[in-house]
Amino acid sequence: MVFNCPACLKKLDKRRGKVVKAGSQASLIHFFCPYCHIYSLLFIINNPQLGKNGGLLGISMLTDLNLNEVRKFLGRKPLSVDEVIEIYQSFLPSTKRSV
Ligand SMILES: [Zn+2]
Repeated sequence: MVFNCPACLKKLDKRRGKVVKAGSQASLIHFFCPYCHIYSLLFIINNPQLGKNGGLLGISMLTDLNLNEVRKFLGRKPLSVDEVIEIYQSFLPSTKRSV
């Protein structure tokens, strides 16, 4: 499987990827691009029904998290809608906080 940087599209050496999580059906690899200096995450799905590439599908996305930060936040539960609203309201002037 060939992996290209999602920002500059240059081919990245797979040996530079750091495994964040490995599984039989899905894995998550963290990359640092030496050309444009961005971090990205490659999500690899192993599903024989996909057929092409032996059932492997790769999805990459940009991230501003380094490897340690990805490992730190991976196991945390997602924020609830109420928590997002609470954070948003904390930035509003105190007169507009009561909703
Ligand atoms: Zn790049």
